[in-house]
Parts: sequence; structure tokens; C-alpha cells
Amino acid sequence: MYTTGDGDNDARSSHAFFLKRACDRLGYGAQEYEILLNPSREIRVELPLRRDDGGLSVFTGYRVQHHNARGPYKGGLRYHPETDMQDMRALACLMSLKTALVNIPFGGAKGGINCDSSMLSERELESLTRRLTSKIHRNIGPNTDIPAPDVGTNAKIMAWISDEYSKIYGFTPAAVTGKPIDLGGSLGREDATGRGVAIVIREYAKHRAEALEGKTAVIQGFGNVGRHAAHCLAELGVKIVGISDTRGGVHNDNGLAVDPLLAHKSATGEVAGFEQGQPIDGQALLELACDYLVPAALGDVVTAENAPRLQARVVVEAANAPVTHEADLYLENAGIPVLPDILANAGGVIASYFEWVQNLQQFPWTLEEVHGRLAQKLEHAVAEVMALATGQGCSLRDAGYMIATRRLKDALWMSGP
Ligand code: NAD
Repeated sequence: MYTTGDGDNDARSSHAFFLKRACDRLGYGAQEYEILLNPSREIRVELPLRRDDGGLSVFTGYRVQHHNARGPYKGGLRYHPETDMQDMRALACLMSLKTALVNIPFGGAKGGINCDSSMLSERELESLTRRLTSKIHRNIGPNTDIPAPDVGTNAKIMAWISDEYSKIYGFTPAAVTGKPIDLGGSLGREDATGRGVAIVIREYAKHRAEALEGKTAVIQGFGNVGRHAAHCLAELGVKIVGISDTRGGVHNDNGLAVDPLLAHKSATGEVAGFEQGQPIDGQALLELACDYLVPAALGDVVTAENAPRLQARVVVEAANAPVTHEADLYLENAGIPVLPDILANAGGVIASYFEWVQNLQQFPWTLEEVHGRLAQKLEHAVAEVMALATGQGCSLRDAGYMIATRRLKDALWMSGP
């Protein structure tokens, strides 16, 4: 046992705290909780890399496979200097809960390398990715474990994994998702997580009979998830009043135009300095008054320390685990709803499921089919979560965790724990 979540102050165990609460509500005992919490397998590999300047660096690669009772392990690969086993465990567990909540036939996994991909040349990045694949290929595959992009990784990196895997096993596009379209990727996968965030907000507002037009959003992170969420929310009439990345933020009470901001970021590498907004520090951005605060970067950014200063009406977890369990308790007591990560950012894994299905059948779908089915899945999941939360008088997180935990436990117990 590595953590119980009880009295554990490490914010990276928030999922354990929420899982424990769901188990208690469902009447599951300590053994069930332990089995649901702990991963089935943890892989750690050494990754030596010959640098462009002739030097040698050694990185560590991880893959944590949480549970596969409902289908193959599924989850992203994160390239970030702070990647470690504990992070991977937490994120892998979240994946099992997410796939169960949106009811797709996958388990959960997460992996990555403790590197800063922005500090590596393209050749170094490719070499490191192929080295990781060569070390874990026996443990991944279309019916085993299917990686996808996450922080610091993208379609190009998925293409290298697919190529390295196919050298050993023959053409196997379903072994990894989030690939470029020409290599078996799905239309609509690239922006699916951000699009899903917007759909979840739209459905939430619809259930509460609230209009979205003219509402405001603040988004932390302007990478894959943040930028597509910004785009899709703007299409729904939501005013984006603040956006940040690692180097700082910009805000404008009258709204930031997303396309010009994207062009500015592409040209300068940062959102700071955008002429149509005022500069703002990344921490202060989280505390701006808005309807929807959308953390779309890394975990543990809303904490017990800053939660009392938030001025958002609703917090939407586009990132994985951006709200610590202490902050979550504070927000619940303060009457600020949190749309939990396992629902809010599930659009990405749903579209990955669609990509996998298309690869297995070698039968590509149209963009309209992907968008339609993505919306259908998320609309259903939001309706289920909101109905249970209303029925039980509990938070949206507790409702989401209960639905997911019950599905995961039923599958595990039916197949023999
Ligand atoms: P990404 O690498 O494309 O972008 C991350 C962004 O966050 C970058 O703009 C970076 O500058 C910014 N950032 C990092 N630290 C920051 C900080 N302290 N303050 C402000 N901005 C900061 O990653 P992504 O794929 O967009 O993933 C973002 C989050 O969404 C992660 O938590 C990831 O696990 C989660 N997620 C991603 C997907 C997906 O399909 N990519 C799916 C589900 C969940």
C-alpha cells in the first residue's frame, strides 16, 4: 500500500481521498478501496540519450497500468521534468475512473519521461521516444495498453511510437492514439479534449437553465487543451477574459480574441505581450472574477491557500487534478461547484476510443460523425452525474466518482478481483 488518502497531506493523493469518499458512500470496505486504488503494474525504465553535443543524459521513463477489467489500459504519455512514479499512479487511477464514467471499454494507465521536451532538439526527442518504446513495447499494444498525447507530447511523438511499435509487430495503428491523420489518426482527436470541456460547460449550463452567451471564462494554460477550450467556448458566446501560460498571462474584461492571441503565441512563444490585453501574473489570473475558471495546465494549482480568494462561479477541471482535495472541500462549503476532471476533460479519451475503433476496423469516420458521437457521450455523462448529484445531494465530483467507482468495482469483481 502506498497511500490511503486518510490524512495524507500530499496533494498528489487527492484522487485517493475522493475515491475513499466514493467507496464510503457506496458501502465498500477497506479491501475494495485498496484494490480499486492501487495499480496492477508499474514500469520504470532507464533511458540514456546521446545529446547533439556528444554528451550523454539519462532520463527515467514510466508506465503505470492501473486497471484493465473494463478493457485495455489507456492513458497519456507526459514529458515533463517533474514526472515521477507517484504522479503517474495518481493519473493512471484517474484514467480508470474517467473511462468508466464515460463508459468506454478501456481501463486506465499513464506514463511519461522526466524530461523537458522544449529543451530537446527534434532528433533528441525522437531518439528518446523510440528508446522508451523499445523498452516498453511488450507491455503496450492495441489489446494491452494504448498510449496517447498529454503534457509535452503531441501527434508527432505518437507517430514515432507507432512506427517503432510497427517495426516489431507489423502495421498496428491501434497501438497508440492521437496520431497524425495521415498515419491513422482520427479527424477531431486533436481538439477533442478542449471541445469536450466546452460541451461539458454547455450541458451543465443547460441543466441549470442558464444561458452561456455573455458569460466569462478564465483559462490557465494555452496548450492543446487550453487553446481548443478557448476556441470552442468563444464559439458558444463565452467571453474569454484571461489566459495564461508558463511565462505569464493577459486579461481583458471585454474579452480576448482567441485567433489573434494564438497567432501572437505562435510568433513569440508566449501569451504575454499580447497587445489587446493587459499583463497579469499567473497566480493573480486564477483569482480574476469570472463565471468559469478553467485550469488547463498542470495539477494542484487550486489549493487551500488560494481557494478562498477565487472569484469564479464555477471551477472546470480541464487539467487533471488541478484542485487539491483540501481546496475541493473549501469550494464545496463555499457553494462553488467543481466540474471534475474525470468528466470535464474526458473528451480526449473518448475521441481516442473513436480513433482506436476506426483503426481496428480500418474504416475512417467523418468529422461530423466524430463530433456527433463525442457530444452524445458527454451529454449522457453530464446528465448522469447531475442526476445523481441532485438525487444524493452531493457534489458533482462525488457523483462522478460514485458512478465510475461502481462500474470499475463491478467489472473487477465479476472477472475476479
Ligand atoms: P500541453 O503541453 O499542450 O499544454 C500545457 C499548457 O500549460 C502550456 O500552454 C503551458 O505553457 C501551460 N502551463 C504549464 N504550467 C503552467 C503554469 N504554471 N501556469 C500557466 N500555464 C502553465 O498540455 P495539454 O495536453 O494541453 O494538457 C493540459 C492538461 O490537460 C494536463 O493536466 C493534461 O493531463 C490534461 N489533459 C490533456 C488531454 C489531452 O488530450 N492532451 C486529455 C485529458 C487531460
